[in-house]
Amino acid sequence: MQIATNKIEELRAMLSTPARIVILSHTNPDGDAIGSSLAWAEILTQLGHSVTCILPNRYPYYLEFMPGIESIIIFKSDKDNRAAEAVKSADIIFCLDFHSLSRLDQLGDLIDENQHAKRVLIDHHLDPSEDFDLMLSYPEASSTCYLVGRIIEQLFSSERITRSMAENLFVGMMTDTGNFAFSTVTPDLFRMVSVLAATGISIPDIHNHVYNSFTEGRARLYGYVINRKMKIFHNGTVAHMSLTEDEMRRFWFQQGDSEGFVNYPLTIKKMKMSAMFTQHTDFIRVSLRSRGDIDVNIFAQRYFNGGGHKNAAGGKSFVSMEETIKHFEASVKQFAKEGLL
Ligand code: 5GP
Ligand code: MN
Repeated sequence: MQIATNKIEELRAMLSTPARIVILSHTNPDGDAIGSSLAWAEILTQLGHSVTCILPNRYPYYLEFMPGIESIIIFKSDKDNRAAEAVKSADIIFCLDFHSLSRLDQLGDLIDENQHAKRVLIDHHLDPSEDFDLMLSYPEASSTCYLVGRIIEQLFSSERITRSMAENLFVGMMTDTGNFAFSTVTPDLFRMVSVLAATGISIPDIHNHVYNSFTEGRARLYGYVINRKMKIFHNGTVAHMSLTEDEMRRFWFQQGDSEGFVNYPLTIKKMKMSAMFTQHTDFIRVSLRSRGDIDVNIFAQRYFNGGGHKNAAGGKSFVSMEETIKHFEASVKQFAKEGLL
């Protein structure tokens, strides 16, 4: 994949003098959000910029190994206002791995207070909003980490990718492609993986950190959810699962523990679409996954005020768990009636 040359040149011009830079990514940050932020921060720091990475809320514990992650400011628990100060005084604000400022919750309001900063989007979600001065929006890219890798290559060369950048970029490329298995993978992604591997990163170590570092509670919760909570309907082609706050407490839930559960029903042969409902204090988080042509981005937009990608999307529900499930089942019927399922 090639990033448009005029955009690369615009970016180069923007970065030609030292600037105060803020890098933001989305709420409930995942490997791609964090990996792309940290790798981008590292190269910008090398170029002489002053860089602050901010996330709206905390990352899951199994991503703590990512190099440089301790430098990220968590907006929700930022008692001394470092995030607010950095955003207010920033010359450039980079938004990575999300497509609209609305996904930042309260952090989005803070950005609106700074009207002089240039806003740059680097992202791979569909339908980006028009809030940005420069948009590097490539929905065909399998991850934002891949995009950041390409941008570094096109601005400079592969040689500028250090081992720590490579570790961070590899995490996002691996997690956003379901361990290099989704239809979004391309020959050029594997070329870049080879560039990353050549920096000396340990792929088995990274794999173990991300996929084999969970708590006992998470393993037991996984078993419980699949065994007790998975409902299969629509002739065996749609599944949903739910998790209440009480159930989370029972299994010593930590943030990130239910990540990936939603993919499991798709290991069943006939399954086309899977949904997971997770209770939060003020809303229920909806996670959707699908196979092949079934477009859960459209489903999320239509029925859950959300969005995402064709085969992985999400949204929110502001009614009870019971009503959310009812609404989901009715929406599936409607979707199927229109020939979309
Ligand atoms: P996950 O199920 O892993 O939380 O999210 C899957 C995909 O859906 C992600 O790419 C994410 O950007 C998108 N997504 C999740 N929640 C929301 C939401 O509330 N609004 C929008 N627009 N996209 C979402
Ligand atoms: Mn991503």
